[in-house]
Amino acid sequence: MQEFQSVEELQNYLKQQSNKKIGFIPTMGALHNGHLSLVELAKEKTDFTVVSIFINPTQFGKNEDLITYPKNIKKDLQELMKLGVDCVFIPNQNTIYPTPDHFTEITVPHYETLYCGITRPTFFKGICSVVLRLFNIIKPNEAFFGEKDFQQLFIIKKMVKDLFLPIKITSSPIIREKNGLAMSSRNAYLTNEEIKYAKEIFQYLSFIKRNFKNSPITYNMIITLFETHISNIKYLKLDYIDIVDSTSLKPSKSPKHGDRILTAVYCNKTRLIDNITL
Ligand code: AMP
Repeated sequence: MQEFQSVEELQNYLKQQSNKKIGFIPTMGALHNGHLSLVELAKEKTDFTVVSIFINPTQFGKNEDLITYPKNIKKDLQELMKLGVDCVFIPNQNTIYPTPDHFTEITVPHYETLYCGITRPTFFKGICSVVLRLFNIIKPNEAFFGEKDFQQLFIIKKMVKDLFLPIKITSSPIIREKNGLAMSSRNAYLTNEEIKYAKEIFQYLSFIKRNFKNSPITYNMIITLFETHISNIKYLKLDYIDIVDSTSLKPSKSPKHGDRILTAVYCNKTRLIDNITL
């Protein structure tokens, strides 16, 4: 497995792979089985797998956890090597943003202001600004994203379509802990005590899904049930819950099978996101 920090060296190496189908997985490191499932999918579908590990400062808000974001580069590299990843790109901030005070930003208006964008107004701008740079550096044929970040996946697909990027976007289902909690690098912030309560997020989403299957319930009922349940659980505080049409990301006021419930819930200080298909 080759490791690169410099764009030039990475690109020289990638030039030698020009006959191969390049699969790319952008990550912020502190890898878990969610990330690794994307790597496995890329290995299956493409000939040459590139993973980036970059804690992207522009997607963090002023009072967010940029400084404390979990890091475990040694273990990450071991895991990626075990899976047979061909190449890892680990740039530093200067490489990606050489002029940090004046850099080109990518926005996907409207969609970036909804749902997660309400609490994190600059988040999706940061995501698109880094992902487009990484796409332009690596020029993958196919890039892999998790459905865990459902709004992010939608926005990346929209950016790729709007900008005519010749990249196929492939997604992969949410990987969960045994107790149902969606895997996330930020789960490392949770104490064992907090985890006991955090798992309620998925348990209750699943409860709603089961009920909906038997007899469709209304938008308001779903929202109220979830709000009430979460407000009664220690450590948990609802950020938002909504139900969206999974192809348009529009709110689905008359929920139907195939729609997604999107939510973000604070467990003490840690903000956790999750979603489920109805
Ligand atoms: P991150 O390192 O958090 O930026 O995530 C990198 C990629 O991994 C994104 O495409 C995420 O959607 C995906 N990902 C993160 N957690 C999970 C999970 N539990 N299951 C599936 N994919 C995930």
